[in-house]
Amino acid sequence: MEIYLDANATTPVLPQAKAAAIQAMVEDYGNPSSIHSTGLKAKALIDGVRARAQRLLDTGDGALLFVSGATEGIQTAVLSALNSMRGNLQADLLLYGATEHKAVPEALKHWNQVLGLNLQIMAIPVDTQGRHDLAFLRQHAPRAGLVCTMAANNETGVISDLDGIESALAGSKALWLVDGVQALGKLPLRLQARRIDYAPFSGHKLYAPKGIGLLYVRAGAPFTPLMAGGGQEGSLRSGTENMSGIAALGAVLAALDDGQTLRDAATMHSFRDRLAEALCEAFPGLVFNAPLGSSLPTTLNFAVPGLSSRLLQDLFDAADVRVSGGSACSAAKAAPSFVLQAMGLPDWQAAGAVRLSIGPAVDEAFVDEACARIRACGESLRRHCLSPANNFPTIGDGITRFMQDGACCYLLADSLSKTCVLIDARPEQVCRLAQALTCQGYPLLAVLSSTGEAEHAEARELLADTLPALMPTAQVDALGWPMDRATIVLGEQELTRQSSSQGQVLLLGKTGAASPAIAFTGLSLPAELSAWVAAATLLAPGRDEAQQVALTLASAAQDQDASVQQVQGAQLKAFVNFHPDALLVDVREPYEQFLSQTPDLSGAQLEAMPLSRLLNAILPWLTEQPQRPLLFFCRTGNRSRQAALALSRLGHAQAWTLAGGLALLPTAARPKHQPDPALYV
Ligand code: PLP
Repeated sequence: MEIYLDANATTPVLPQAKAAAIQAMVEDYGNPSSIHSTGLKAKALIDGVRARAQRLLDTGDGALLFVSGATEGIQTAVLSALNSMRGNLQADLLLYGATEHKAVPEALKHWNQVLGLNLQIMAIPVDTQGRHDLAFLRQHAPRAGLVCTMAANNETGVISDLDGIESALAGSKALWLVDGVQALGKLPLRLQARRIDYAPFSGHKLYAPKGIGLLYVRAGAPFTPLMAGGGQEGSLRSGTENMSGIAALGAVLAALDDGQTLRDAATMHSFRDRLAEALCEAFPGLVFNAPLGSSLPTTLNFAVPGLSSRLLQDLFDAADVRVSGGSACSAAKAAPSFVLQAMGLPDWQAAGAVRLSIGPAVDEAFVDEACARIRACGESLRRHCLSPANNFPTIGDGITRFMQDGACCYLLADSLSKTCVLIDARPEQVCRLAQALTCQGYPLLAVLSSTGEAEHAEARELLADTLPALMPTAQVDALGWPMDRATIVLGEQELTRQSSSQGQVLLLGKTGAASPAIAFTGLSLPAELSAWVAAATLLAPGRDEAQQVALTLASAAQDQDASVQQVQGAQLKAFVNFHPDALLVDVREPYEQFLSQTPDLSGAQLEAMPLSRLLNAILPWLTEQPQRPLLFFCRTGNRSRQAALALSRLGHAQAWTLAGGLALLPTAARPKHQPDPALYV
């Protein structure tokens, strides 16, 4: 079962809202402008929903228009305000809160330009708690024609001090837009009592479908329609009304009214406290990015030292818990949250932010399950040596690749001799590496650099400070190689080196073998490489922006890239039936695999081979199973595509990727494997 904790992005549609929408589409499908009975019924429905919304939002004699959503409401309000400012010589400034949803500053810029006003646009700074700087506002309000401040922030849940803002606006003629999107159903806005001129709302943030919203306009506030046409909504917003959306929104408002379906603020506070407690327990050292006391009880925004936002999102997603990083819009880019930056939070908090948000329809059982899953995420981190505290010891074996902004660091571990070697570590990775090395507990035989870069030496020194007991004791040269030996023996394998113009190429292979299995080549392939490696030797690069994982001499010389063979989710069963010998390879990381609780795909053979450890499997697949279909899968299809491309490029004829990943599979078809208990001691 999915635990959806991303209600600030959007919410599911309430069953009664769905029923009302279907009724409006299928039975009561009239056009409210028609004067026959079917039309009159539709008109009565609109009037009823509007009257309820007016009462709930306390709009007094202001207008309440049905629009497509908050973005349209914001455009309409901004256009109206800016159009009224033409020729007004006293106001030459537009103000908006620094943490507003992008729809607000973008609308200000857009209409300022389209209307040719060239007004100055300024952000009102916020403090570290996310509250507007009221002194700044008071100082600039006399020059302002429009002031835009949200009621509550979508990323942090921080509630704005609307009374403070109102008093800072005293004496100013500025119009005031309050973005009410995140407040709907959670905070009373007292639209009538306050001097708010415009307030947009969006239905899909409160259990109505996407495509329906409301715009409040104070009686007497300037208004310019965004849409002209058939004269609907008293000519304030033309276009045939979205009747199914209005009907659904009406059902949500009725649920707000009945006091049964949606939880009150006190219950939501108790739910939030429980979620916060589970988070703090699961992730030692976690910090909340906004004070809980002045935030909506439906939003928690946090960061965990040493864990990226991306890693945490992957972790939650593997546990079937949906959260977002910062905000939904910025989640696809790994950019730090501008909201948290505006609050002056440290970079690691702004870049590592995760947002967890619930809606008022959740119940006790849902919160129980959410807390249990959050704790399971913490358990997975501890078992995989990623928790900020209390990690389990782990057995290390084989090669693990750690990526940092395209640079590759390799940890070579041997479980027989209980020793390891590190290649090309960078200072930013030292915390993570020190954690992994501590859990593994093997002494380091060498901390090597393939290129002699200063960062590698710096990382070696930092590691020596952090883990003195695990560091090699022998004298080493500038590249970290122990002076007293020509080979480094790692159990049944040995590491040798060849000097190159950029540093050294490190060659790993079975002791006594004719050629190395893997060569760590550094930044570029030296001309002499073909004398040191065989055709089948895998070349592991020092940087891998192109996400190739490994090359061979032959594949490095090819100028055409391999193409990838895809299996669509709907064809997965047929693929497995057609290829009974296929191996399905899960390339997600172990901390994700551990949490995956998905049903069996009958008959399929499965193997867990995280992308970070793919180098260990490539040679056996290429040499022992060159014809066996390998179907790689992961959460979204990105990592499995990389793996399949790498294998194809290296000459495997049957490497496939599951397009779209597990995310697009019907739940019943998802492969399952148990975490391997042998990996934990
Ligand atoms: N304002 C806020 C505070 C929001 O959270 C959002 C949506 O995330 C919007 C405006 C835009 O709403 P919509 O995309 O529904 O138009």
